[in-house]
Amino acid sequence: MPTVDSVTMHEFLAGLERSRTVIVPCGSIEEHGPHLPLGTDTWHAVELAKAVSEKIFIWVAPPITYGLCRSSSNHPGTITIKGTTLRLFIQDILRGFYQQGLRRFLILSGHAGSTHMAMLVDACEELLLELHKGRFAVVSVNDLGRIAWKDIVETPSDSHAGEVETSVMEYLFPSYVKGRAPEEYPSFPPFLIVRNKRAFWKGGVWGNPGKASREKGKIIMERSVEALIEIIKSLEEEEPDGGS
Ligand SMILES: [Zn+2]
Repeated sequence: MPTVDSVTMHEFLAGLERSRTVIVPCGSIEEHGPHLPLGTDTWHAVELAKAVSEKIFIWVAPPITYGLCRSSSNHPGTITIKGTTLRLFIQDILRGFYQQGLRRFLILSGHAGSTHMAMLVDACEELLLELHKGRFAVVSVNDLGRIAWKDIVETPSDSHAGEVETSVMEYLFPSYVKGRAPEEYPSFPPFLIVRNKRAFWKGGVWGNPGKASREKGKIIMERSVEALIEIIKSLEEEEPDGGS
């Protein structure tokens, strides 16, 4: 269960004999309503990766703690980076791991914004053409919900600082949770790329924190870990021959 930054170079070499797969947790510095910390996405991804590494031998990289945040970019505390920066940065890191012998890469993102995720996917698509023995997976915490825990969530379109993230933080770091914000959803006009995003999303919550509980957070984390282990099994299989 090594974290890459906690081993010596000799331990790193020895560990490569056991696993050539690495989880790269990605987060954000982003408002999460008036009740959750700016680093919620990072904490979520890091804790998931650590929990996976307690069950199977796999490398865990130090997290990328900044991400691309569009909708929340005007809210206090959000520090967003450009898509180009994110794409180049994750590619440099994956190339570095590849040079050191890692071959399977799971990008696990605690931030699930669609543009952010698209940049991560695009980064890996480009690397497929360059790192010929590399295999890549890109997964957000919300993707895990679709396959593992959606049935326990009572808020249908809960996605940011709502029932799910408040539950997870209540389970992982209860002292970081400052009560409950009211249920809220943004009202962005369709298709328009608006400048003052906060005018359409006052409180920065997308869902219902009032439905959150520590018990739900525990189940969400446990089922997410199981789902991630299944994804890692697929990632570690050989890619089928395309027949060309
Ligand atoms: Zn979040």
